[in-house]
Amino acid sequence: MPATRVLMNNLRQVMAEDGDTRSRLDHVVRLIASTMVADVCSIYVREPEGSLLLIATEGLKPEAVNKTRLAAHEGLVGFVARTAEPIAIEDAPRHPAFSYRPETGEDPFHAFLGVPILRTGGVTGVLVVQNRTGRTYREEEVDTLQTISMVLAEIVHTLDTSPAAQLAPERRARGAGVANLKGRIFCEGLGFGRAVLHDPVVPAAKFFAADQIAESERLNAGLIDLRASIDRIMMIDGAALGGDPRDVMEAYRLLAEDPSWAEKLHEGIRSGLSAEASVDRARREHRARLMNARDPYLRERLHDLEDLDNRLLRVLGGEEGKPKIKGDRSVLVARRLGPAELLEYAKSGLRGLLMEEAAASSHAAIVARALGIPAIGGIENLTTRIEQGDYIIVDAEEGMVHVRPDDVVYDAYKARVGLRSERQARYAALKGLPARTLDGTHVSLMLNAGLDLDLDMLDQAGADGVGLFRTEFQFLVSETLPRLDDQIKLYQRVLERAAGRPVVFRTLDLGGDKVLPALNLQREENPALGWRSIRFALDHRGLFRRQLRALVRAAGTGPLTVMFPMVTVPAEYHQAKALLLEEIDWTGRQTGKQPSKLEVGVMLETPALGFSMQDLAGEVDFLSVGTNDLLQFFFAADRMTPLVSERYDLVDPSALRFLKMVADTCKAGNIRLSVCGEATASPPVALCFAALGYTSLSMAASAIGPVKQALRGVDLNAFRAGLFERMNKPNGSFRNQVLALAAEHGIDTADS
Ligand code: PEP
Ligand code: MG
Repeated sequence: MPATRVLMNNLRQVMAEDGDTRSRLDHVVRLIASTMVADVCSIYVREPEGSLLLIATEGLKPEAVNKTRLAAHEGLVGFVARTAEPIAIEDAPRHPAFSYRPETGEDPFHAFLGVPILRTGGVTGVLVVQNRTGRTYREEEVDTLQTISMVLAEIVHTLDTSPAAQLAPERRARGAGVANLKGRIFCEGLGFGRAVLHDPVVPAAKFFAADQIAESERLNAGLIDLRASIDRIMMIDGAALGGDPRDVMEAYRLLAEDPSWAEKLHEGIRSGLSAEASVDRARREHRARLMNARDPYLRERLHDLEDLDNRLLRVLGGEEGKPKIKGDRSVLVARRLGPAELLEYAKSGLRGLLMEEAAASSHAAIVARALGIPAIGGIENLTTRIEQGDYIIVDAEEGMVHVRPDDVVYDAYKARVGLRSERQARYAALKGLPARTLDGTHVSLMLNAGLDLDLDMLDQAGADGVGLFRTEFQFLVSETLPRLDDQIKLYQRVLERAAGRPVVFRTLDLGGDKVLPALNLQREENPALGWRSIRFALDHRGLFRRQLRALVRAAGTGPLTVMFPMVTVPAEYHQAKALLLEEIDWTGRQTGKQPSKLEVGVMLETPALGFSMQDLAGEVDFLSVGTNDLLQFFFAADRMTPLVSERYDLVDPSALRFLKMVADTCKAGNIRLSVCGEATASPPVALCFAALGYTSLSMAASAIGPVKQALRGVDLNAFRAGLFERMNKPNGSFRNQVLALAAEHGIDTADS
């Protein structure tokens, strides 16, 4: 029997035995040393600060156990931990990374083989064998040790290496205790629950396979299913596009069919692992390499490989392997997540969502917002820091995650939940009241939406209508391109649920950060400045016309309001509007129905358009400021780059002067003024816009209450006078000046 099988059989027995972790580890190192004919076998575990502690050895001095501690990058052990790769050396003392520790008595040992102990994405320790004489370790031996290290990871994981608990009885999680993680808020709110990991977890009990042949067959069947599912996706997309959607899925298929991947998985089974454990072993290696890889192309490929491992684990696990969401309190933890997957989980109720993925525009983030699930993204190494079942507080008011909170943190959280509900009760009381300022200016407060799920909020928030319906979301959350009928149905549902309140449909705003894999867009250096939005729509006439047709058909004989995104020069508006008019004409001839009233608007997202509004007088009904994009173009600060995205403020004399100039031009040209970017969610910013004459503000549902409260409490004329005075003579931080002014007007600016 090959050495690995012998070892795995013995390990299986050790795992099944009763006994504490320490004696198990001692048993394991003895087993490895004798089976591999090694003079030394040692295990080092990585402590929370990164140092590596010797926790078991056969062959080194026993007194060094729990004493010898190497700095994170010290010696060959540190080298393995840092690179997350195995290393085999004939003459270790001559290696530049070698570090000599006399207390271990390791001087006579020359040959060194070290492999990382990997668990959910990180190196948790290092397993080492050493031989007195210089010798070359064979590839199978390296492989054997890697397989064993995976089993060891599960044992080591239960250790608490803190001095107080030196190898004390098992605890639920290594390094258990409060951990605070920071991320970006994807959907505001507070939530508490137990962690449910999205990526499949292979329990240690399922590591070993008794019947190698049956396990190999299971793996083969799993691989066939996996390839078939990829082929299916490719076929559906291909048909919908009629074009060339190869890129992403083709790369996926190639990887899935790569014989060396399958061979590696079979090799794991031959060494005694179950099919799942063998895939898990590959996944650990891919993750570890990913953590070290800097090159974006390589990272992307490693991500693909890991996705493939996860897919295969799901296929192998079937229903049983699916993460279980408990109806009561679950927080979903994922590296990344497709929108459809999130919708599926959300059906069973979720209290929060945490993602490693950093883009607030990611599709899952969009769905989380539509569902109102408190969500935080951009949390580094998230999945290595949270264990299945950990208690978690999702503080998506501050962008903090508290893992395994203690009582103090939990009590503070409870108090915040109380305050939040009090605030919400105050806002709810304003629901039926108009947003009219003390001096009688009426401001329409509208809802930003993108999925029909969002529309539940129309009544709950007391919105006057939908000021921005992001039609591209339907495209982003479906696996294939929505057909004409799908689009018509969605728009009809939106109009029905708005029940006579105005709805502004923004036409497709794809490209930039809203990437549709099915459209196979080319990579761009600066996607925000690239082939996106109306530029993209005008160059994809078929797609664009189909959408315009759907809008016209959905309106039937009712009113229709359409807005074009990111218009930069009037010609783009003229072309888009001409296409819309053609579709109205065509639909009229086909169905005998035409919208009773048509209103067409432009979004102000590029500064250039601000200087052309006079040329659009008489042709455009309204203008809506897209503050998210305008801010990035006005200040030349990428909205996707956290280091600069919050650096500039719209509440700045330069931006406000520009917006005033635009407002004055539009008023002269009889063009109505509105705003639909996220900036107006902040009450002082909303007041500034209202003061400049933008009297229709569209925002997320959660912002409507606070903004309405501020507007109802302000004398807008007096506020305007104060604002203009400060704009003419700015002095120090302009935002602080405006906040002080708002406070003078009795506005609560505590959170601004
Ligand atoms: C904006 O840019 O402000 C806007 C509303 O559009 P989006 O955020 O969808 O790009
Ligand atoms: Mg925009």
